[in-house]
Amino acid sequence: MGSYISRIVTSAASILEGMAITLSWLFRRPCTVQWPDKIEKPIEATLSDRYRGILEVETKTCTACQMCEKTCPIGCILITVERNAETKERLITGFDIDAAKCMYCGLCAEACPTGAIRHTTQFAGATPQIGRLVLRYIGAGEKLTPYKPKTEVADLAPRGSLAAAQLQRCFPEGDRGAK
Ligand code: SF4
Ligand code: SF4
Repeated sequence: MGSYISRIVTSAASILEGMAITLSWLFRRPCTVQWPDKIEKPIEATLSDRYRGILEVETKTCTACQMCEKTCPIGCILITVERNAETKERLITGFDIDAAKCMYCGLCAEACPTGAIRHTTQFAGATPQIGRLVLRYIGAGEKLTPYKPKTEVADLAPRGSLAAAQLQRCFPEGDRGAK
């Protein structure tokens, strides 16, 4: 009988101890943040520069060497290069990155000789329509002359702005295609 009562007391004490820990959290400040609406500044601005978020391409410094495309182990990058029939000049006509397929390993950025392809702190791409996550850094019909190293380039885009613009194109007005 004594051990029976002892077990009841031990169980009750154990439950009370657990409840006391739970109740103590009622009086502490929450350490979670309600993203994206109730934060002081965008999460993207608080992440490290080394964060491996959504890739962007500064096409003004892309040599069209296609090293990033060849290095990617899962074929996320598709670069199209054409040659002008008369001048024989190479032209970049497409630079797509499938952000849904990307595993953010960073190998493409490491292989790039000019830093044209780089990770950003952009990360918000959740959507039920996965096909919308193809980032197109060369627009339809656009033909870009590849960058020649050591030439001066003006007005390079701030890091992250090109990826943000692409996400805006994929999801205008924040529409993630949930409907
Ligand atoms: S980060 Fe990795 S998976 Fe993504 S495109 Fe670059 S090489 Fe491919
Ligand atoms: S982004 Fe870099 S690695 Fe890729 S084609 Fe351009 S210069 Fe070459």
